[in-house]
Amino acid sequence: MSAAATRLVILGKQGAGKGTQCELLVSRYGLTHISTGDMLRAAVAAGTPLGQEAEAVMASGELVSDDLILRIVEQRLAQPDAQAGFLLDGFPRTQPQADGLYGLLDADGLTAAIDLDVPDAVVTQRMAGRGREDDTPDAIARRLALYEKETAPLRQSFASNTRLLTIDGLGTPEQVHQRICSHLDALLART
Ligand code: AMP
Repeated sequence: MSAAATRLVILGKQGAGKGTQCELLVSRYGLTHISTGDMLRAAVAAGTPLGQEAEAVMASGELVSDDLILRIVEQRLAQPDAQAGFLLDGFPRTQPQADGLYGLLDADGLTAAIDLDVPDAVVTQRMAGRGREDDTPDAIARRLALYEKETAPLRQSFASNTRLLTIDGLGTPEQVHQRICSHLDALLART
């Protein structure tokens, strides 16, 4: 096994189960969880200038600017806890963000990108029960459309630049977790 830290990205539309899988993965692999959505919500709650800039955009289901997101990710990745390995959640969401991320990493790049694959019909049903304040029906539909347009194409980019692990996201959280682990463990044993 390589001494390099495990550096992961998880892709998946809203409601795909990323949050739960992230919790299980960070605890199993000892990673730092970096969620841009959580960081932005914390900034909004704290009323920082960054939060004020992001608040209206987030409420409408649109994407915050690439520049702003890349600045907060760059700062976060520079923190000591990220050096031991990390799991990026909700980022990158656009090609400029993916390009920016590669620019922030050293030559080792990413260990893998995990693509949690769940059909739109299933996530829409799951979202209905989530009841988060920014989960209006319009915002949900807008986020799914944006995911298809901006984020889904990153799979191609990850498939050529790093190892893309496509995981069936249907089933219980534990089943999905085991699927991810078996792919990841096989990969880590080879590197
Ligand atoms: P999430 O919790 O990841 O669904 O993020 C909630 C909201 O924060 C999104 O709908 C966007 O408005 C914003 N956001 C989070 N991450 C990003 C990102 N990487 N790029 C642009 N906007 C983001």
